[in-house]
Formats: sequence, structure tokens, C-alpha cells
Amino acid sequence: MIQIDSGFKREMFDGQMTVFQVGDSGDAAYVIETGCVEVLVGDAGDLRRIALLSEGSMFGEVALLDHQPRTATVRTLVPTSLIRIDRAHVEELLGRSDPVIQYLLRLLLERFRNSSGKALASVDLNSQETLTPLDSTPVIDLHGAAVRTLSLAHDLSNAIDSNQLELFYQPIVLMDNKALAGFEALIRWRHPNLGMVSPDEFIPLAEKTGLIHRIGQWVLKQACTDWHDLRPLCQHNPAHPPFMSINLSAPELCGPGIVESIQACLNEHHMQANEMRIELTETIVISNVEAISAALGQLRAMGVGIALDDFGTGYAGLSYLQTLPFSCIKIDKAFVQQMHSSQRSFQIIKSALELSRMLGLTTVAEGIEDEPTGTALAAMGCTYAQGYHYARPMPVAAIGSWITTFGKTALTE
Ligand code: C2E
Ligand code: CA
Ligand code: CA
Repeated sequence: MIQIDSGFKREMFDGQMTVFQVGDSGDAAYVIETGCVEVLVGDAGDLRRIALLSEGSMFGEVALLDHQPRTATVRTLVPTSLIRIDRAHVEELLGRSDPVIQYLLRLLLERFRNSSGKALASVDLNSQETLTPLDSTPVIDLHGAAVRTLSLAHDLSNAIDSNQLELFYQPIVLMDNKALAGFEALIRWRHPNLGMVSPDEFIPLAEKTGLIHRIGQWVLKQACTDWHDLRPLCQHNPAHPPFMSINLSAPELCGPGIVESIQACLNEHHMQANEMRIELTETIVISNVEAISAALGQLRAMGVGIALDDFGTGYAGLSYLQTLPFSCIKIDKAFVQQMHSSQRSFQIIKSALELSRMLGLTTVAEGIEDEPTGTALAAMGCTYAQGYHYARPMPVAAIGSWITTFGKTALTE
């Protein structure tokens, strides 16, 4: 047996051999690479062939997915090479897939088993029918997750028109004097029944359903509108002009017209291009480098700042710093929060700061929750600080009173 990777292995069978038999546990599915197999049903003494499968066919997938014992026996007829797909690998992939897809798959498998080969009935996600759990995952949780996803997707399409979206702003301060330098705009959804829904939940949904374009336009417009009130609160510092940071998703940046709509928004709200900074995560950059490089080049040429968000989490940030016109690196909070407990995190931050200095980029450390972390990062030369230690994201109306309390202590330090 040759190991190909953790999930796929090649198994060789010489001549007539049993791959699995009725009653075995379904811990793998197989693809026939070369050779052929027969599929048999019935008891040991009375086996009937129901199929003959050759190169490229797959078998064993149903028991693998529903964790029930095998209902057929499979034998190789000639020397045969099979690619074995382990259950653990498939479950890892499934676990990362959409809950709606997972739920539909489970319903289909259940009906396939129950129908014993009869035609599958149609699947109705609204039916609250009780399914026998197919494995340790409680089916009702999966049903709940699937219904929540579908219902959120539906509600999200009304959220903009019903004024349920809000922008919160998290202050970003200069490391050396704690002066207010800018803000990151962070979206909030106040759902009428569910309360606050996290952007970590609804932004991926918006990306999948295409709603992200409307939401992105709303964010852009709202942030530029609020900048009128927020800009005068920032410290006047020619070396570090005040800025508003906005998060952009991959479909927004890759779609047509993004440069034009940013330009139009800047014009409409009399905002300088260098007062706007867009934030892109490493994952967006890595998977769309060709599609985004033209748009980034144009935005940078206009003077808009471009920050590489969550730096260090995508493993490929360094190479893109060379080819794409970033002006800023945001060090991910996972590293910042572990810099005192993990030597590795500390070294990653140190290298990122040195690299930024060499490339002439500014740096923001996000997720700073205590004074020692802020002091250490300031001593290491990081430009800006962001985190709960200074301020949480808040509505525009709350910024004034934050300045009064925070300003009395930090701004005058
Ligand atoms: P992000 O861009 O990495 O934003 C930073 C997240 O860290 C925010 O979570 C912020 O509230 C949180 N944070 C800030 N300081 C601290 C701290 O000291 N400790 C901890 N534990 N967390 C801190 P939030 O607001 O829930 O946003 C989550 C993500 O949703 C954002 O991550 C961003 O990727 C996405 N997002 C938010 N608003 C927008 C938007 O308008 N458009 C798009 N496309 N994505 C958005
Ligand atoms: Ca961000
Ligand atoms: Ca981030």
C-alpha cells in the first residue's frame, strides 16, 4: 500500500479478493484506478451479482457517509488498484461545508436507506420529521443549523431596506502618543428576533448569496457619511493623516466597478483618497491575486491606503507584499494575544515589524487587550494600536464620550 496523503491511499489487489463484505463497517469509499470489481448482495451462500464496475467508478460511499454497515460485498476480479478514501478525511471536508448541504445529504442518505432501492422521495427542509441519528452528530442540530442559514439568508436580503444594518467604529490610536489616528468600520446586524448577529456569521452568507455587493455599497456610503463627524475627532498629524478603514470581501473587490464606486463615494463626501484605507485579508489576496491586482493598483495610484489584514494567518503574506501595492500590515490578533506566552508569535510579530520598516509600510497591531502588550509593541516599533484595551467598536454617537474619558488619561500621556 502506498500512502498518497492522509485521506487518500492506493491499495493493490491481486486477482480475486474481497474488498469488503455485507455487515462490515463502512470506514472507506474506493475509486477504481485500474481493474474491475463485482458488487454482490445476499447471504454468504447465496450471493447475487448486481453490478460490475470498472475504471473510474466509485463504490462504498453510502456506508461511509451514513455510518451504517455495508449492505453489499465487493470483490476484485482481476489485479486491481483502488484509491481508498478514508472516512476521517471525508468528514473533515463535510464538516467545513455549508450546514444546508450537510443536512440535505443526510436526508437523502436516510431516505435511500429506508427506500431499499425504491425511488427517492423529494426532500423537504421544512419538514421537522424526526430522523434516526446516522452518527454521533445530533440530526436536530444539523436541521437547526440548516434552517438558520436559510432563514438568515432570507432575512438578510431585507436587512438593508429595513435599516437593520449599522456601522460600529473601533478607534485606532498612534502607538507612541496614543492620539486618535483613525477608525475601522465594522458592520453590525440588529436582527428583529435574533438580536445582534455577528459579521463572522452573516458576511460569509452574504458572499455566498451575492448580497455582499449591496451590503458593501451600503458600508462604503455609510462610512464616508460618518467620516464627516469622525474626522474632526482625529489628531491632526501630517506624518499620519487620519483615516477610515473599510473591510472588503473577495467578491466585492473582484467584481466590476469597485474602483469607480470608491472614487464616486470619495467625491460625493469630499473625502481625501488618503483618508480611506481598505482592508483585505490574506486569504482573499492569495486566492484572487490576478483578479485584484489591477483594482489595487488603481486604488493605490489614487492615494487610497491598502492594508493586508490578519497578517500571518495565510502563510503567504510575504510574497504578496512584493507584488501588490500594500501600504499597511495589520498583525492578526491571534499573534498579538499570544506574544507573551508564545515565543513563535513573538518572533512572527518581530519579523513582520522589521519587514514593514524595510518596505516602508505602516503597521497596526490588532486585538491589544492589556497595557503590557501595548507597551511591548510600541517598543518594537509598531505604528498603530487597536484593541479592547483602548476601545471596543461602538456606534458613531458613542465616540465623543469615549474621547472624553480615554482622552483624559491616554491622549495627554
Ligand atoms: P476583522 O477585520 O479582523 O476585524 C477585527 C475583529 O476583531 C472585529 O470583530 C473586532 O470587533 C474584533 N476585535 C477588535 N479588538 C479586539 C480585541 O482586543 N480583542 C478581541 N477578542 N477582538 C477584538 P467583528 O466586528 O466581530 O468582525 C469580525 C469580522 O467580520 C471582521 O474581522 C471582518 O473580517 C468582518 N467584517 C466586519 N465588518 C465588515 C464589513 O463591513 N465588510 C466585510 N466584508 N467584512 C466585515
Ligand atoms: Ca479588518
Ligand atoms: Ca483583522
